[in-house]
Amino acid sequence: MIILTQIKDIKLFLFDMDGTLYLGDRLFDFTCELLDTIKLSGGKYMFMTNNSSKSVADYIKKLAKLGINSDYDDFITSSQATAYYLKKHYDNKILYVCGTESLKDELRSNGFIVTDDLDKVELIVMGFDTELTFKKLHDVSKLLLTRRDIPYIATNPDYVCPTEFGSVPDCGSVCDMLFNVSKKRPVVIGKPEPLMPLLAMERFGFKKEETAVIGDRIYTDIKSGISAGAVTILVLSGETTKEILDSSKDKPDYVLESAEEILNILKKQD
Ligand SMILES: [Mg+2]
Repeated sequence: MIILTQIKDIKLFLFDMDGTLYLGDRLFDFTCELLDTIKLSGGKYMFMTNNSSKSVADYIKKLAKLGINSDYDDFITSSQATAYYLKKHYDNKILYVCGTESLKDELRSNGFIVTDDLDKVELIVMGFDTELTFKKLHDVSKLLLTRRDIPYIATNPDYVCPTEFGSVPDCGSVCDMLFNVSKKRPVVIGKPEPLMPLLAMERFGFKKEETAVIGDRIYTDIKSGISAGAVTILVLSGETTKEILDSSKDKPDYVLESAEEILNILKKQD
C-alpha cells in the first residue's frame, strides 16, 4: 500500500492538537502511544497551533494536565512564527501588540520592544487577544488611519476559537472590525499560510517529503501543509465530516478516521 510506504518515510510529524490528539479536555486513547512510537522509531513530532493567546509554557502545562509530557522544542506556535517572520523582515522595529501578555513576552524574548506609546510604534501585531480592551481597538484604529503605510501583521486568521460552550471571537474577527474602520487587512502568519510548517522543517533540517502535516481542519491545517509542500493527512476525529471533505476543493494526500491509524501503520513496520 502506498500509504504504508509514505508514512514510513515521514520523519517529522506536525500535529494539530484539538480534534487530532485530543478533543476539548479528553485525550484520545492512542495519543501517548503514538507519540512514543514516533520517538522510538527515530522520528520527530511537533505540536502546531494557531492560538497566539497562550505561550509555549502555557501549552506545556495544558498538555501535562492531559497526560502528555512536552518541552519547548516540541511546539511551533503562530507566536513563534510571527517572531521569526518579524526578525526576518522587520528586525528592530518597535511593536504595538494587540494581543495577550504571553504574546508580548514571546516577542520581547526575541529582542523586540513592545510599547503603547503610539508615537514610537513602527509596526502593529494582532494576536488572539483574550485580554482585549476597547483602548487597544482605539489605538490600532488610530494607527491604521493616521499611518497608512504602517506594517500590519496578524498571528492567525481564525474567526472563532472553540470553547466548552461553543466559541468566542478570535483574531480574524477582530481584524474584520478593524477592516470596517480602516479598509486594511493584515499580513497573516499562521495556518493556512505555509510559514509554520516551513519553519519547523528548517529548524530541524527535514525535507518536505519527510514531513507530514496532520490535522482535522482542511481550511487551516491541510491548506498550510499543501502550501508548504508537505505530505498532508486529514483526520476525521474533529471538525471535518466526509460531506465537508467532498465539497472542499483542497484535498489532503490521505484521509484517516483518526491519527490512531498512523500508530497502526508505524507498529506494522516492526
Ligand atoms: Mg484542530
